[in-house]
Amino acid sequence: PESVRQLVALPRYVRVNLLRTTVDKVLRHFAKDGYALCSHAAARAKTICRDRHLSDLLVLPPNTDLHAHPLYLSGDIILQDKASCFPAHVLAPPPGAMALDGCAAPGNKTSHLASLMGNQGRIWAFDLDARRLELLQRMTSKANCQIITPVHQSFLEIDPTAKDYARVEYILLDPSCSGSGIVSRLDQLVEQAEQDDDAGKETASSDRLEQLARFQLECIQHAFKFPSVKRISYSTCSIHRQENEEVVREALLSTDQFELAPRSHVLPDWTHRGEAIEDQADALIRASPASDHTNGFFVACFQRRSTAK
Ligand code: SAM
Repeated sequence: PESVRQLVALPRYVRVNLLRTTVDKVLRHFAKDGYALCSHAAARAKTICRDRHLSDLLVLPPNTDLHAHPLYLSGDIILQDKASCFPAHVLAPPPGAMALDGCAAPGNKTSHLASLMGNQGRIWAFDLDARRLELLQRMTSKANCQIITPVHQSFLEIDPTAKDYARVEYILLDPSCSGSGIVSRLDQLVEQAEQDDDAGKETASSDRLEQLARFQLECIQHAFKFPSVKRISYSTCSIHRQENEEVVREALLSTDQFELAPRSHVLPDWTHRGEAIEDQADALIRASPASDHTNGFFVACFQRRSTAK
């Protein structure tokens, strides 16, 4: 338990919102505040460095509280874990693209897509939960996103052939999951395990995993139906194979139109890859507190086969 508690101190990751500012401007702001720019993992207080993998991400020491920082209040920076910045980078919709976020609220990844697209193109953002969708609306307007259309509807009920949606080329799917990779919850799990080892709870959670995995698979299979879609990113903040590699394997078995995008397109320099599914683990991304100083996370990217079978 002690080692898990130590892991709770993840670095403070700061995503630069390119719709309002630049990485250099943010670095200059922190330098004026007395921060020293360093070249690798900011460990000492008042240090800041560029992330090694993501060009729009900065890394500060754990427990740096920026909730009252003027750049956070203005929407210039967004406090987002590194791993949860992977899906938008992996999907990589170019400026002008037609994109859709299927399970979007509260909107961190939607606003990241808009940032990478330079506010050019269009993003439909779906969510079932009205209250969370309102939060998305607030967060994305604060971030100066101008291309997002929030829609209060189940992603599974969208007609992929409807006029607007038939043009969608990029889909980000970050569906509800067990959340078992979130560090603050890992900590809770350890405490719970210390207190009881009730077998009934085990069964309940495996039923829940099964239910979640079914929903996650349905989301991917629905995304496959969009006639113009080229790429689909699928992500969870779960550490369970059942919600990750297993869902991807089932999805691949159900289509002859889509395949996994190769490692060369999916953060090639990131060394923590998926767990074995046939010979395709290398195309998948995993992240974990112990090896990567992030929350537990999983990302896969599907692409339409260039010549459908
Ligand atoms: N991508 C979001 C972000 O980065 O801020 C987090 C998404 S959260 C993991 C999953 C979301 O899926 C929840 O907001 C939930 O309300 C929504 N959801 C669940 N079932 C859905 C469905 N059938 N259609 C659309 N959204 C759904």
